[in-house]
Order: sequence, then structure tokens, then C-alpha cells
Amino acid sequence: MIHNRSQEAFEKAQKFIPGGVNSPVRAFRSVERSYPIFIKKAKGNRLWDEDGNEYMDYLGSWGPMILGHNNERVLAAVKECLEDGSSFGLPTSMEVELAELIVNSVPSIEMVRLTTSGTEATMAAVRVARAYTKKNKILKFEGCYHGHSDSLLVKAGSGLLTEGYQDSNGITAGVTSDTLTLPFGDLDKVRELVAADKEIACIIVEPVPANMGLMKTAKEYLQGLREICDSEGIVLIFDEVISGFRLALGGAQEYYGIEADITTLGKIIGGGYPVGAFGGKREIMEMIAPLGDVYHAGTLSGNPISVRAGYETLTMLRDNPSIYTELEEKVDYLTGEIEKAAAEEGVDLVINKLGSLYTIYFTAAEKIENLEDVMATDTSKYITFFNTMLEEGIIVSPSKFEAHIMSIAHTKEDLERTIAAARKAFKVIAEQ
Ligand code: PMP
Repeated sequence: MIHNRSQEAFEKAQKFIPGGVNSPVRAFRSVERSYPIFIKKAKGNRLWDEDGNEYMDYLGSWGPMILGHNNERVLAAVKECLEDGSSFGLPTSMEVELAELIVNSVPSIEMVRLTTSGTEATMAAVRVARAYTKKNKILKFEGCYHGHSDSLLVKAGSGLLTEGYQDSNGITAGVTSDTLTLPFGDLDKVRELVAADKEIACIIVEPVPANMGLMKTAKEYLQGLREICDSEGIVLIFDEVISGFRLALGGAQEYYGIEADITTLGKIIGGGYPVGAFGGKREIMEMIAPLGDVYHAGTLSGNPISVRAGYETLTMLRDNPSIYTELEEKVDYLTGEIEKAAAEEGVDLVINKLGSLYTIYFTAAEKIENLEDVMATDTSKYITFFNTMLEEGIIVSPSKFEAHIMSIAHTKEDLERTIAAARKAFKVIAEQ
């Protein structure tokens, strides 16, 4: 594949943008490439780069594109919206429609505030949880990523893992001392910690972690967190920025039947445009300004274009519940065939999958359950896998710490092509 234009674009980019990218994992350093591919356009499950190469896409813009890129209905609605203006700094009815749709879809959300990103949603969720409980500390889990606000960038997943650091420089010791961390999946450790420390305002968790690779959460774990929070007066925050409207309309909480006090959303609820949201119990949400004194604001919060794209996306998901079973069936088939091909080629791997998300780990271990397990998986085999797939015209996550993402635009034929490409990659890996 020829990538001359991407290479040129990256050379220029590095002069003006740190590392040439606006989000670290995009640089493809993690897959040992000297430049990333620069994307020009997308449609359905296809991406085209600046050189005209076509790729089948399993990134889905890191989550939003459950309906595929530039879905006709979303596109038509956005076009209509553009004619009316891009941002007013005053409320619009469509914000209310989207809020109502979210409240009606996620059982634990009684009121919701829109933001411009997932980062802002989790940051505000933590702030209101602190104000509500009048306590200062937060508990998060190693390898979970909740955006890049100061107090949540401690032992975080996603790009921090991929780039090889888990705590960010530039954050004060005061901030990090209020953020406690524990390994994901161990309830006894949570019980011990909350018994010893009565200053914990909230527990924030990705109910289905997808930023240290995908983890399959046990229902008992989420149930246990719910019970601990109830008995200790701790606010339980589910960060459903990825899992919201992806595992089910009501997200992981519908999938598992366990409710959070506050839920954060992003990605799918903007249909590919910038948006985030945090919502929960009325009593908590009414503490937010202008009703209460917990401040949250945003010049582009509830942006009309994002909100319209999100509204169309969520309406389509709501009106077509079979989408979720179809996505799950596709992932079941694809990962089943990939497992078979790997076994035939003599490559050891474990695949974690849930709904339309999955991660392939190269390991001889039996299962992958937390960050420690993921750290021990083979990075160089993953890099070979990524690069072989890319040469075959298929783009998967450029990091072993992220999920691969299925959309409704992937056809049976696409899956067969993916399986054949994966087999090719396994042959290369087996020979290494
Ligand atoms: N929470 C989770 C679970 C995420 O996966 C992400 C982004 N990948 C965020 C929060 C932050 O969202 P954003 O990148 O929109 O700020």
C-alpha cells in the first residue's frame, strides 16, 4: 500500500501539532509505524485515506459509529440543521428531545446535562458526587479510563497504557492523593478500603472496561459495588461513555440489571459529533447550577448539530432493538472463526467479547480479567496482527489496550474477509 500523502501530511503535522496528532494513540507509535494514516472520508464501515486506500473499519471512531459512518438518516438531519445555524448559546428544543430520549432509555437517569466530551461529563459527575456527599476522595480502578481531567488521570487506561505511562505529569500531589485506585474485579479490596477510609465520595467505574482491552465484568462485581455504595453513602458512577447505548439502549446497567447513581455518556449519543452527558438521580442533579451551587457550563454544550445527530442515532437504536442482537451475533461469529483460525495456525490467544465489542489478546493464559493480565499479553504479536490487517485493508485498534468495534454496516462478506486476513496475520505470527 502506498502512503505517500499520509507521510507528507504527518511531516507537516509534526511541525505544528505536538506529535502530529490531537490525541496520542492516533500517531500509531504503539504499532511501531513511523507515521499514521490520514483519513479523508468515510462511509458505512469503510475509511479512505489521503492516498485513496480503502480500509474496513473496526475502530468506529473509538465508539460513536454504531450505525456506520455517515449514516443516511443522520447525515440528512445534520444537513437540514446546518441551514439553521451552528451554535446559539441559548437553549434549543432538540436538546430537550435528546435529554428526554436519554432519560427514557437509561433507567437510573432522571435528569441529564449535556457536555461537549466524555471528559467533561466524568469531571462534572465527580464534582457533583463530592458536593452531594460532602466527601472528597474518589475511588477508581486501575486501567479504567475516564477522560483526561486531573483527578481521573491516575492509573488510567487507553492512551496512557498504550504510550507506557499511567499517571500524567502536571497533576499535583494534592489532586492525586484524593484519587484512590484498586485493581478491577476484586470486591474484597473495595470493602477493605471503604471500611478504612470514610472520606470516599464516589466510586467511578467503567461497568464494562474497554480501555485496558475489553473485560467481561461479572454481574456479582457490579452488584457488590452497588451494595457497598448503598451501605457507605458513596455515589456509584457508571462511566458508560463507551457502553452506553452500545451494549443495550440502557447501556451496561440495562445489560446487567444494576443501576448507577450517576451515569456518564458520550460517543454514540452524539452520533459522531462532539457530545457528552452526565445524568442520574434528580436529588443529585438538582445540585447543579443554576438550581444549585455545583458549577457546570459549556459554550458548545448541547450543540445543535451534535444533538440532532445524536437524536437521530438514538431514535434509530430505540426503534430497531434487533440491532443489538444482530451486532452480538456478528461478533460471536467473527470471534469464533478467528479463534478457530488461530488454533489451526498454532497461535495462542484469548478473545474477550461483549455485545458489539471485543479484544484479541495474544497469550497462552486461559483468561484475561484485569490490567495485570493484559500487561502480560504479547505486545509484539499484537503489533504484527495490526500491521498485517492494515496491509490487508482492515483497520483494527492500534493498541492491545482498546476494544475492536462492530457496526451495523459490517456485512457477512466483510466478516469473511476479516477472518481470512486474520488467518494471514496468524501465519505471519506463527513464523516469527
Ligand atoms: N470515559 C470512557 C469510558 C472513555 O472511553 C472515554 C474516551 N475514550 C472517555 C471517558 C473520555 O471521553 P472523551 O474522549 O470524549 O473526552
